[in-house]
Amino acid sequence: APAAETFEFQAEVNRLMDIIINSLYKNKEIFLREVISNGSDALDKIRFVAVSDKTALDSKKELEIRISFDKDARTLTIRDSGVGMTKADLVANLGTVAKSGTTNFVEAMSGDQGGDLSLIGQFGVGFYSVYLVADKVRVRSKHNDDEQHCWESAADSSFSVWKDDGEDLGRGTEITLYLKEDAGEFLDQDRLEELVLRYSEFITFPIYLYKSSTETVEVEDDEEEDLDDEEEEDEDLDEEDDEYEDEDEAPRTTTVTNWDWSQVNSESAIWARDASEVEDDEYKSFYKTFSKDTADPTTWIHFKAEGEVEFKSILFVPGQVPFDMYDSYHNKNAQLRLYVRKVLITDEFEDLVPRYLNFLRGVVDSDDLPLNVSRETLQQHKVLKVMGKKLVRKALEMLRKLAQKSESDDDDEDEDDEEEGDEDDEEEEASKDPYIEFWEKFGKNIKLGIIEDSANRSKLTKLLRYKSSTSGEGYTSFEQYVENMKDWQKAIYYIAGENVEAVENSPFLEKCKAKGVEVLYMVDPIDEYAIQHVTEFDGKKLQSVTKEGLKFGDEDEALEAKRTKLYKETFKPLTDYLKELYGDAVVKVSISKRVETTPTIIVTSQYGNSANMERIMRAQAF
Ligand code: ADP
Ligand code: MG
Repeated sequence: APAAETFEFQAEVNRLMDIIINSLYKNKEIFLREVISNGSDALDKIRFVAVSDKTALDSKKELEIRISFDKDARTLTIRDSGVGMTKADLVANLGTVAKSGTTNFVEAMSGDQGGDLSLIGQFGVGFYSVYLVADKVRVRSKHNDDEQHCWESAADSSFSVWKDDGEDLGRGTEITLYLKEDAGEFLDQDRLEELVLRYSEFITFPIYLYKSSTETVEVEDDEEEDLDDEEEEDEDLDEEDDEYEDEDEAPRTTTVTNWDWSQVNSESAIWARDASEVEDDEYKSFYKTFSKDTADPTTWIHFKAEGEVEFKSILFVPGQVPFDMYDSYHNKNAQLRLYVRKVLITDEFEDLVPRYLNFLRGVVDSDDLPLNVSRETLQQHKVLKVMGKKLVRKALEMLRKLAQKSESDDDDEDEDDEEEGDEDDEEEEASKDPYIEFWEKFGKNIKLGIIEDSANRSKLTKLLRYKSSTSGEGYTSFEQYVENMKDWQKAIYYIAGENVEAVENSPFLEKCKAKGVEVLYMVDPIDEYAIQHVTEFDGKKLQSVTKEGLKFGDEDEALEAKRTKLYKETFKPLTDYLKELYGDAVVKVSISKRVETTPTIIVTSQYGNSANMERIMRAQAF
């Protein structure tokens, strides 16, 4: 046999494998999802290669995954006819080159409580999950550009690679797991079928399971001679065909076991189906399958774009923030899988949608794009621009609907109360407004959108939410703000500051509170910057309460009262003097607001007689 070369795992990969192999994690079955997903990825890759290189599939025509097990050897084998790995790929991808997610994953898993191991796929290290159930793993792989090689490791900090003289794969990868003592459940075909079905539901390649089926067959006459005598048999046949008083009189049967490949999944693309025929649960599990996320999506939109460019798409908002969300905002694209005529072109097309929507996940499937060009050329294609615009519009529509749904859910609260009965209180606490859930996770993206996307700014503005002086635990939108404005109020007020406590206690807020005017709290560093791009909403100007020259709609009254008071005090010596001078001839001497150029004016008091009346009365005097 060819000599094996031994390699040390890269240090972080080693730590990762230690964690996995010693894990007490219960949900070990997730390894199958990872292996199937790698097979599917590899199949997508060869299908893409075949677009420009017709001969690529000559090494093996069928694109498929096959799963089999051997109870005696305690092995589980998963084979795909994907792109395969060269020797160099095996060495690099399975052990010596650590991915960026490796360290993150090790950190996430090594807390006191341990972490959720099923997130492994998200960190780009899903392959190693095979060591949850196996103490030795062998990978045989054939890539079109190399000879077939074998990789093997018992997770003892090293792995071996050698040229494989075993059965020819044609093309693709075969992974054999030597199952641990406690992993016997994966040698059970019903269990496997259940898992394969669960994890392959949305895989668009056929997945076969090698399984046995039992069949009851009638035993031929000559085989049962020893069981019965011929006379009795003849009687049976003369009487009736299907009713027997005595079991012994039934036709002799035996069970035979047939082993055969049986396709488990349906390969149908969920996005190609009519939205009205897809259940919520199907969207949720599809989302989890392709995104490798473990949480349900917050919301989604499934649509068919028509017109200039036709495509089908499902967009999702994740239920949790991806671990690398803001690591490198400017390098992170939305994870949209782009299919052109069923061929996966890429799962992260650069700039298909603007950066601020990079939390989106989904699929886009179009027949309108040329297949036979490089990704780079495709990138420049004008169709993509149109597609991107539609995707943005749909994404914003989805968010708008989510926000509206939240609002109408509030209205329905009473009905819900009745239906849900006793557990209500708990329910209510547990279930948060879905839009606010979105907002708390991805609100920053919307604010970035306000800055970056002037074309959609007004739509985005409606998606903004703020804490305010009257919002309590909740949030206010601009629409709600405007609805709650005082009759006389002309502007939308906000205060920017470090945090809610700081702005809440700001002296600038005193007057607004006294007037019952709502003030939006801009306490995210990006808020003030974003708000520069939103100068008004619904015709109402945005105004900071800390700026000089703060005006309320009703300030004439307020300001005048203030001014009067000030003048009164300043001129008190003069008015006192004049009152003394005129004595009883006048009721009072006061400062007037009504004169502009005339120095003095004699008026009657509000409650006294008018001057005209005085004149009349004097004429009648006795
Ligand atoms: P990810 O799938 O996120 O890249 P994995 O740890 O699951 O991370 O796999 C690591 C790498 O190993 C893959 O990126 C791929 O290059 C290679 N690989 C794993 N399984 C296969 C396979 N069945 N066929 C081809 N390459 C594979
Ligand atoms: Mg993977």
